[in-house]
Amino acid sequence: MSNKLQGVRGMNDLLPEEAERWEAFEEIIRDWLRSYGYRPIRTPIVEYTRLFSRGVGEHTDIVEKEMYSFEDRLNGEQLTMRPEGTASCVRAAIEHNLIFQNPQRLYYSGPMFRHERPQKGRYRQFHQVGVEALGFAGPDVDAEHIVMCRRLWDDLGLEDVELQLNSLGDAAERATHRAELIAYLERFHDQLDEDGKRRLHTNPLRVLDTKNPALEDIVAGAPRLIDYLGETSLKHFESVQRLLREAAVPYRINPRMVRGLDYYNRTVFEWTTTRLGAQATFCGGGRYDGLIEQLGGKPAPACGFAMGMERVMLLWQEGLESAGLASPDVYVVHQGEQAQAFAFRVAETLRSAGFSAIYHCGEGGFKSQMKKADASRAAYAVIVGDEEAAAGRAALKPLRDEGEQIALEPEALCEWLAQRLYGDAD
Ligand code: ATP
Ligand code: MG
Repeated sequence: MSNKLQGVRGMNDLLPEEAERWEAFEEIIRDWLRSYGYRPIRTPIVEYTRLFSRGVGEHTDIVEKEMYSFEDRLNGEQLTMRPEGTASCVRAAIEHNLIFQNPQRLYYSGPMFRHERPQKGRYRQFHQVGVEALGFAGPDVDAEHIVMCRRLWDDLGLEDVELQLNSLGDAAERATHRAELIAYLERFHDQLDEDGKRRLHTNPLRVLDTKNPALEDIVAGAPRLIDYLGETSLKHFESVQRLLREAAVPYRINPRMVRGLDYYNRTVFEWTTTRLGAQATFCGGGRYDGLIEQLGGKPAPACGFAMGMERVMLLWQEGLESAGLASPDVYVVHQGEQAQAFAFRVAETLRSAGFSAIYHCGEGGFKSQMKKADASRAAYAVIVGDEEAAAGRAALKPLRDEGEQIALEPEALCEWLAQRLYGDAD
């Protein structure tokens, strides 16, 4: 076995080029969330395991086989690295009484952990941006979430995306459907796979969520939950659709879509693409009116969605161009002991004036430093030798276009740069 240290399988490093793309994406996301009035919430990566068994559901893929759980060696507590963000968000909202008086529009963003087989668009540490609207009964807020997604895909220029929509009704409607579904699936018991057999009685709806193509026909013939919806659920669903039509957001109703987590009711939706192979869904969400109570809060309706950042980044072609946009204004080169100290101060003066400046650290002749300045993509080099330092000046040399080199005192240098870079008149 090689001695070389490697990152954990399914957990990725983002090197500067890609990390810059991510930062550009995160800036767009933040502006977008603000424009809809959503506010950030940050919760810990580690939670008690029971939060997820209760919040996500015992009989889900996540809780049955994907969670990174461990016992805290020091006190024996059962802990889990969060596999998703909704349970934590709701836990925090309850714990801190956030929805005591007013409903809340919240968002989170950060790493999630699921032990799955890594492949393109599927990792063991991945990242989600999630939006939760707590205390809203909808259907306007359901539609708001879908419409805001559509706006983001348009802003990002994503192509080949489709919205799939379904309603899971309420608890009573699901109970009636569940009984019929179990009766139906029992007829095919021998043909079900291991997951299917196990879930037949614990969580039959999940059988419909299977990715096993061998079960396609069985799933296609199963009783559809949507046919069991009562008047109130249908009205809610119809209102969501009306708002979508008014906002000119196309959708496809997919009666087979159930989503992978237990907490959903009524509206559920997924954004899919033909461009990511088996990882077709890059964003999903819906209403979860029972979750707040399920986690010990005063009953309150809620809905939300989460997008997988890796999958969206794979779709965001234009983002490639944003890599490397963050080039520095200035690279500071210097030669000589006195020059070094003066150049260090000049670099700080430049930053105080709002410029980005890379100070050359370490040794090197002027020529090799100038090469580094060029490679840094800086617009200007600031050059200091002992002679300039003695005179209290630094020379400024354009790197990207023709132009004279001029020597100025630090303050004048800043003014001159501001004029050149930003066309400031004053
Ligand atoms: P999938 O069916 O692909 O396993 P999921 O239903 O488990 O997805 P959700 O729990 O709804 O996914 O999470 C929301 C989004 O998070 C997904 O649409 C996807 O973009 C992203 N996501 C989920 N699991 C992973 C993963 N292992 N790696 C990368 N992204 C993921
Ligand atoms: Mg999954």
